Parts: sequence; structure tokens; C-alpha cells
Amino acid sequence: MKELEGYIDFWPAFEANKEITEGDLCFIYKDNELLFQHAPSLSVPYYGQCEAFITDVSSAWYLGKWKGKSCFAYELSSNELNTYEQMENKQKLEWIGFRDSRWNDDLELYKIAVKTQHLLKWDKSTKYCGCCGSLYERKEDECAKKCPNCGHLQFPRISPAIIVGIKKGNEILMAHNSAFRPGLYSVIAGFIEQGETIENAVKREVYEEVGIKVKNIQYFQSSPWNSIDSLMLGFIAEYESGEIRIDGKEIVDAKWCDKEHMPEVLPDKISTAWRIINEIMGLEK
Ligand SMILES: [Zn+2]
Repeated sequence: MKELEGYIDFWPAFEANKEITEGDLCFIYKDNELLFQHAPSLSVPYYGQCEAFITDVSSAWYLGKWKGKSCFAYELSSNELNTYEQMENKQKLEWIGFRDSRWNDDLELYKIAVKTQHLLKWDKSTKYCGCCGSLYERKEDECAKKCPNCGHLQFPRISPAIIVGIKKGNEILMAHNSAFRPGLYSVIAGFIEQGETIENAVKREVYEEVGIKVKNIQYFQSSPWNSIDSLMLGFIAEYESGEIRIDGKEIVDAKWCDKEHMPEVLPDKISTAWRIINEIMGLEK
């Protein structure tokens, strides 16, 4: 895989019974946090460094290779918290949440962490066959589960969502969602419906949430997103017509902002939302 270095750094793979060795990387997950080395920048512990922590494992998967190193995901049960806290100090490892600002410096690592989270959450929530209620078994030859009774297959899910920055002259539309922390404004986002095109989802979400029409919808970039199993597809569009009319449920405030009057609280810099806002407004180069 040497010829892929710098081209595709993380290569997802599946091996049902892969053995872990001392130099392999461990993505240890518990309650939406990962156990990383305590340092100014994030680094993943090797198996040899963190083997003692990997007890009380509720789920374990081989993830693939990152820069040639094998990566494994482990979910720990949460009932040993005190023990882990005591060991954290001794071993200089710490639990890192997805809101930590150190992710901003390492998008590649963030994406593997999100894969870890999505895979382990899927594993936890996909125990029984939705068709006949039997207990699923893991497939031996691919990352999936199979019902031993009716043969139904279940693969890890991702849920595509759109996120769009809307330009109007030198202004951008910023909105406060009722689920946001106080003061935070971002661009418009929402899940794509079944049977819907991505372009249509952009138009529909914008119209539903703030009552305006957009044109010249241009793809910007994508990124997996933590918490739910979403894949954010980022767009930039131009204002076409209409006055802001918030839906009052999801969006509780929305306004046009120029560079001098941006909201004080913006999305985390790792997010596609922030990258879109930065692309339109040129906040940081
Ligand atoms: Zn079944």
C-alpha cells in the first residue's frame, strides 16, 4: 500500500478474526469518548501501551489500516469508570470527547474516530433481525450481520445529510437551531429523504427552515459527522428570492450577516459547517 501514502491514508478493511499485535493502534471508545494519549495534539495509543485498559470489552472490530498500521476499535462497558480514571493519570491517557478542539488539527484521525463511533453504535443497536426477531450473527467474510433463521443481512448504516451556506451579496444566512447551545449560529442542514435527490434536499430544507429559495447550488465538500450516523454533504448556494420566515420549531432565529457582524459563537472548526462559512466569508485563510 506504499503507493497510496498521501493519496488514501486510511484504508477500511474487514477481517473477522484478525489478531492484534503490540504495535497496532487502538481506538478505545466509551460513552462518546475515545481514550487517547494526553498531549497537546491527539495521538492514538498502541496496543502495547493500552492493553491494560482493554478490559470489560462489549464490542471489538478490526477497522482497517491507517498509514500502514492496523487499527482496532473496542467499546468498553461504562461500569468501571473509577478504575479508568485512576489509570488515566498513571498512564497519561485521557478520554477525549468529539467537541475537543484538538480534532481541528487532524481531520484524518477524526474520520477514523467517527467510523469507530458509528460502527460500535450500529453494533450495539443492531442485535436482532428486524424481519423475524432472531439474534443476528456476525458475518465471517464482510462487515455485516446475518440472521441465522431467515438470512436477512444488515450492513452498517450511514445517513446522508445536506448542509448549505447561502450567499447574498457579501452576506451569509446564519441560523440558530433550537437544539444548538446558546448563541451558536450555523448554516442550514437536514437529512435527505428517501427517493429524494441531493439538490432537491438542499432546496427543500432551506425552504422549510427559513422560507427562501436558492439557486446555483454548488457541491463544496463532505465529511462524516459524529453522534448520529450521518455523512454531511456540503454545498454553497446563492440566494434567489423570498424573505426569511423561520419555522419556529427547528430554527428559532435566522439572519443575514456580513463579515463584520458574524455571530459570536460559530460551529467547531472540524465541521463542514465551519469550512463552508469560512469559504464564503473568508474568516481565516
Ligand atoms: Zn431473521
